[in-house]
Amino acid sequence: DSSVMWFRRDLRVRDNPALLAALDEGTVTALFVVDPAIWSRAGAARQAWLAANVLALAERIPLTVHHGDPRDVVPRVADGRRVHVSAETTPYGRRRDAAIGDRVELVATGSPYAVGPGLVRNGSGDPYQVFTAFARAWREHGWPEPAHTPRSPAIEQGDSHERALDMLEKAVADAPVDLPAAGEDAAWRRWRSFRDDGLRDYPRERDRPDHDGTSRLSPYLHLGVLHPRSLLADMDTSSTYANEIAWREFYADVLWHTPESAWEDLKPALEGMAYDDPEDAIEAWRTGTTGFPIVDAGMRQLLHTGWMHNRVRMITASFLTKDLHVWWPVGARHFLDLLLDGDVASNNHGWQWVAGTGTDASPYFRVFNPVTQGLKFDPQGDYVRRWVPELDHLPGKSAHEPWKSDVGYEQDYPLRIVDHADERREALDRYQAARG
Ligand code: FAD
Repeated sequence: DSSVMWFRRDLRVRDNPALLAALDEGTVTALFVVDPAIWSRAGAARQAWLAANVLALAERIPLTVHHGDPRDVVPRVADGRRVHVSAETTPYGRRRDAAIGDRVELVATGSPYAVGPGLVRNGSGDPYQVFTAFARAWREHGWPEPAHTPRSPAIEQGDSHERALDMLEKAVADAPVDLPAAGEDAAWRRWRSFRDDGLRDYPRERDRPDHDGTSRLSPYLHLGVLHPRSLLADMDTSSTYANEIAWREFYADVLWHTPESAWEDLKPALEGMAYDDPEDAIEAWRTGTTGFPIVDAGMRQLLHTGWMHNRVRMITASFLTKDLHVWWPVGARHFLDLLLDGDVASNNHGWQWVAGTGTDASPYFRVFNPVTQGLKFDPQGDYVRRWVPELDHLPGKSAHEPWKSDVGYEQDYPLRIVDHADERREALDRYQAARG
């Protein structure tokens, strides 16, 4: 008649199947464990975002918060009771849950995805290798309708670890970026305002970093503050937006089937590629001082906000891998440190997609030109001027090409660290050599 609900990437009360399964058994202890293995790997902004959402959950329900290795903490708190979770699908989460499953009865209901990774398969029972086929089968597979949560769930207050609560509060107080409003009410407000004002123009607006045309829900989806199926129930599932949700599900599926692809090339075709380790250039990329305006704008948006527009994620990732010839995990690690939505499946497979080592048919030889990309997707230069103040005196699209203006470098904007045409050729040569 009493069980534990252990919250992880599902920090919400609404439409939470695992919580409902726990409540079905009677009184519930709601538990969150600050896992040092996860915590110490996250940058300060990510720690703050996680902490803010755990604290927001604690305002809604009596939450018991602990700190320590969940392999020790969870069995101790459970004290013989069953432990409900939503299934974890990342390599680390799976290993951890398998180890804990030997010591307590772990009951998994639902997952952070509309369709659990591993469930969408082709006629022969194999996973899909390409997105379009996956997305079609994913829609056909379908998902359950959202579930209703009782108004006052029977959750009892347990003893929290003061140190764990202090850590969370300190992380929020020390946040190096302005965090979005935390918690599920804020997430729902964000979704509703996007649904009513942004969804219709999304197909046209989503590629424009100078406009606020995307939902900005990724940080909430990452921690399960909102569940994708709640959104899918509230929109046309054939829409462009639903297709983007399907990308998230696809990458989780790929990672499920090939956990090693978190940090290794998914496709072996480019295993012989020669990569460089140009320390100064990598540092210029990280700090947004490469001399390529759209690249620098993106990297500074990431540093200052913990988020970057999707189009610019592709451009900056292409720059690191193709112009600087750096192996994608170096960039993926940096993104994961800083992104509030940093997610090993979407991020690392997003990187592999750009690098040409991943799922897509996308050829390695597609090399983004950072200048033409900037001119195309930020046609008035507004995005660049917002993030790169050294260029704010250059009007309109001229902000993308300071080298063409007499006053382009008047405010100490750095010169370009490489010649794009040369590096493009170099990348293609290396590609040919690797392909033999
Ligand atoms: P919207 O355009 O409003 O999209 C809605 C939702 O769909 C997003 O919140 C996200 O959950 C999902 N989505 C959209 N595009 C993608 C995509 N290409 N792949 C997977 N899911 C997608 N997304 C992450 O959530 N975490 C990451 O760590 C991450 N790293 C990335 C790294 C690279 C190099 C690239 C190219 C993409 C990465 N993405 C990542 C995907 C995408 O950039 C973000 O999901 C998106 O920018 C989030 O902003 P939004 O919520 O406004 O997106």
